[in-house]
Amino acid sequence: MKHNFGAGPGILPHEVLKQAAEAVVNFNGIGLSILEISHRSAEFEAVLDEAVKLVKELLQVPTGYSVLFLQGGASQQFAMVPYNLLPEGGKAAYLETGVWANKAAKEAKYFGNVELVATSKESNFTYIPKDYEIPADAAYFHITSNNTIYGTQLQEFKKSPVPVVSDMSSDIFSRHISVEDFGLIYAGAQKNMGPAGVTLVIVKDDILGKVDRKIPAMFNYQTQIEGGSMYNTPPVFAIYVSMLTLRWLKAKGGVAAIEQENNAKAEQLYREIDRNPLFKGVAAIEDRSKMNVCFVMNNPEHEKPFLKLCDEKGIVGIKGHRSVGGFRASIYNALPITSVHTLIDTMQDFAEKIK
Ligand SMILES: *Cc1c(COP(=O)(O)O)cnc(C)c1O
Repeated sequence: MKHNFGAGPGILPHEVLKQAAEAVVNFNGIGLSILEISHRSAEFEAVLDEAVKLVKELLQVPTGYSVLFLQGGASQQFAMVPYNLLPEGGKAAYLETGVWANKAAKEAKYFGNVELVATSKESNFTYIPKDYEIPADAAYFHITSNNTIYGTQLQEFKKSPVPVVSDMSSDIFSRHISVEDFGLIYAGAQKNMGPAGVTLVIVKDDILGKVDRKIPAMFNYQTQIEGGSMYNTPPVFAIYVSMLTLRWLKAKGGVAAIEQENNAKAEQLYREIDRNPLFKGVAAIEDRSKMNVCFVMNNPEHEKPFLKLCDEKGIVGIKGHRSVGGFRASIYNALPITSVHTLIDTMQDFAEKIK
């Protein structure tokens, strides 16, 4: 078995993969594949219902919120959010903490005015700006809770006078959040929740219906809510595998239990980065992500041979994003702590080898 530190699509629990594989051949023993049954069948409706129920339970979603499973990825949400929430001539506020945040803000400009409240672009997004005001006349305030490429994460959410919209693609279900602090949360499944092809949206119902423009059905949250995520054929298999992953998470003790494990994984890996003289963390210490751990080597000539040693140990997916360089170890929910131990051992072995 490989140690999969890939940033996304990321690691899924092995038992989930085995159940998914079985369901492709014979779903729930009904003699049909999950890939060849109607999305309106009782069997699939039960899957979707359970997926929605698990999201609500695991995140303690209060009443007054709708849970949707949509297509188009987080990138479609970059456009769908302003399409539905930003009135003509109105303004939305964005915190620019990386290229995903930047892309989200760019899409909003098609629909109205965008105010960047702060950016850390000048330092290649190595930290989260904290000194800013959220304008009270904005339709909403958009943040990216975890910056997958740069390894930074919002540790706290400022109190906001307007609804907060958060892209949580790479840290949803990894730590406790209070859903009531948000107007809308979205997350592409393929980092921490399931396979590519489905996007989770949790939206507070009463923030909708405030723009006058006409919105095509597929891009309209209201239509999707009324259709129960089945206005058209939903991504059946991606929803099924996400549901299995959420079941797995619940069986592990839910978000509180996984958060403890995630804290331990991150703490041990950062400790080695800080201790081992060959390595250096990239992100500001107080903003370090517990999902994507970015680091470089003090001597860039060591990076190739270190990567080779990792490969020999079955460690895959740790090459850093091209815009940051070095390494990025994504330590999502499904990555066992033993894989983190293997990486730490490999860092120590490498230091011994080049002595
Ligand atoms: C991966 C990622 C995206 C892009 O997701 P798609 O589903 O490919 O559109 C957006 N935001 C964040 C934070 C991500 O990690």
